[in-house]
Amino acid sequence: MKILANDGISQNAIEILTKAGYNVITTKVSQNQLIDFINKEDIKILLVRSATQARKDLIDACPSLKLIGRGGVGMDNIDVKYAQEKGIKVINTPNASSDSVAELVFAHLFSGVRFLYDSNRNMPLEGDTLFSELKKKYAKGKELQGKTLGIIGIGRIGKSVARIALGLGMKVITYDPHHQGVTITLSFFDGRFLDFDIPNVSKEDLLKSSDFITLHVPSQKEPIIGEKEFNLMKDGAGIINLARGGVVDEKALLNALDEGKVAFAGLDVYENEPTPSIKILMHPNVSLSPHIGAATLEAQDRIGEELASLIIDYFKN
Ligand code: NAD
Repeated sequence: MKILANDGISQNAIEILTKAGYNVITTKVSQNQLIDFINKEDIKILLVRSATQARKDLIDACPSLKLIGRGGVGMDNIDVKYAQEKGIKVINTPNASSDSVAELVFAHLFSGVRFLYDSNRNMPLEGDTLFSELKKKYAKGKELQGKTLGIIGIGRIGKSVARIALGLGMKVITYDPHHQGVTITLSFFDGRFLDFDIPNVSKEDLLKSSDFITLHVPSQKEPIIGEKEFNLMKDGAGIINLARGGVVDEKALLNALDEGKVAFAGLDVYENEPTPSIKILMHPNVSLSPHIGAATLEAQDRIGEELASLIIDYFKN
């Protein structure tokens, strides 16, 4: 059976699937040639990440498809319900990348509190001529330890973020309408573990009492953070969005940054992907990454293994 892994797949997954008798094709086919390729090659399984779209038109035009797999969580690039109605199995790997996204949250947070986003831009240009000036400019850093982290959306990734925050000595609060507080277990290298009860508070309380706010919710119809919400935040708060573009209103964010209400933002996702707003990209107080939250080698291996075992199980039955 032929599998097209159009956005790539880990080597270990290729090996597992090949051993199980599948033919895995990793050629990157452009979106406008995808339907022809699937039909010509008689592809039965289409695996995507976030780049390739599997929409109604493709589903209608490719009767050979039996399974569409998304390596990762969000399935906004697949018409899931429509595919299922047509008898196509749709799978994803929701657990495999939570820890990688959570670690990137802290990469942005540490970058934010020590101005690394800015010093990495300025050191190559002026580090040899204005060293003392830059040293002074970045001297008033802050520590994460002892600060309050507000997590909006305490699902898989939110919980993983909470674990790291607790390990750093931060106070953690959450706002999630579908939870009434969660217990987070911290496991240590020597087998010991500790449970922490994390309170769920109102959105307003979270906004007012957090030093840093991070969002881990699915894509929304309306922004969760807009002008009203920025106004409720502590002066000098930091905000992190690795969830989906549009969850934070970018115009309101730019205003909050320009007014100094928000000290810095860490962004991995944007309203207009893959062509984010230049104003966001050029803002001096934004730490930027190009939607790489799940993109660690370890997560790719876990995603590949999870996809391979789901595929093998499905076709076995
Ligand atoms: P999850 O479903 O486990 O958790 C989402 C949580 O958000 C749930 O607990 C839900 O109750 C809560 N929620 C929904 N709407 C809310 C709202 N309006 N206010 C507050 N809470 C709300 O999902 P997850 O695995 O934790 O992933 C979260 C999101 O992270 C994904 O949907 C995806 O958009 C994003 N993500 C980004 C990357 C990346 O590369 N940057 C990678 C993976 C996932």
